[in-house]
Amino acid sequence: MIKVKINNFTKKELTCRCGCKLFNYDDDFLIRLQAFRLIIDKPLFVSSGCRCKNHNKNIGGADNSLHESTTKQASACDVTNDNCQKIYEAACISGLFNEVVYYETKRFVHLGHDLNQPGNYFNIID
Ligand SMILES: [Zn+2]
Repeated sequence: MIKVKINNFTKKELTCRCGCKLFNYDDDFLIRLQAFRLIIDKPLFVSSGCRCKNHNKNIGGADNSLHESTTKQASACDVTNDNCQKIYEAACISGLFNEVVYYETKRFVHLGHDLNQPGNYFNIID
């Protein structure tokens, strides 16, 4: 249950895309995502939010993916717009996420906050 107003993202776009209607997000992550949206001040389109276990597997997500939200709350979101390089740089600088991965060819940026991960994982992948 979201306890704060996440003005720039809808539950619909953050819900699992397989049709199962799963929405199970960590509130702290959603606050970070909204804060990042305010920082970047540009539309961010969600390409992947929550994923049920089956959907995560079907699209080739990692078993321990931060998107996977059947066994735990999701703490990652993939976003895109016409300037993914800017999203990547701003996300790394923001300090809001400790997992930021820019998928250059697929043109989206993975934003994640992993409480179990020491330090940051920032990377650009072809
Ligand atoms: Zn699903």
